[in-house]
Amino acid sequence: MAAAEQWLRGLTSLFFPNVCLNCQVATARSTDLLCVSCEARLPPSESWQQPENDVTDRLAGRLPIVYGAGAYTFREGTVCQQLIHALKYHHRPDVGRQLGRRFGEVLRQVPALGDVTGLVPVPIHRRRRHARGYNQAEAIAEGLGEVLAKPVYAAALRRRSFRGSQTKRGKLERLENVQDSFAVGRGDFRDGHLVLVDDVLTTGATLDFCGNVLLEHHPGVRISVLVLAVAER
Ligand SMILES: [Zn+2]
Repeated sequence: MAAAEQWLRGLTSLFFPNVCLNCQVATARSTDLLCVSCEARLPPSESWQQPENDVTDRLAGRLPIVYGAGAYTFREGTVCQQLIHALKYHHRPDVGRQLGRRFGEVLRQVPALGDVTGLVPVPIHRRRRHARGYNQAEAIAEGLGEVLAKPVYAAALRRRSFRGSQTKRGKLERLENVQDSFAVGRGDFRDGHLVLVDDVLTTGATLDFCGNVLLEHHPGVRISVLVLAVAER
């Protein structure tokens, strides 16, 4: 998509929030992210009810987790990609909150998440956060936390390095900024159950790093992982 068209789409969604984020036709309600036909093209993943799924597979042998699931499958050119794009680049943290709440509704039925202490969004570097105005993973965690009635520990992890623009990197790598490193932030979690939250899972490297940093500094905690979308391999 041309830069001008991207810019126009961003502008349109800012002034006319009641248009579909995928096709720009009017939505039924002002709170709808998508029109009815695009909504039908966003099939929710079944992974939340499968003990072994794309999320658990990609973290197997790297990060021990209690539970892992993704809400949608990410493919190029899909409705899911447009939603992630709006969330990350068009100043729409509300997309993350709304999809987080929606995912939370189904996750309320998951017994493994019953004893969760809190949600830990994967951090972005403060310079990127400043430029974007928010952390998209935190927006998702807020939506999840609202429905699951769990606190969001946004300062539990911090991002240590920042390598500038990633536009020259491969598409999958850009989705997941694996070059950055992570450190523990604030919080004493003892033997709690923390849920790492991110927007897109590709290789699993980011969540692997984040989870292991938490385990290293809080040896008693158990970790689960929730992502909005899992990139198709
Ligand atoms: Zn549409």
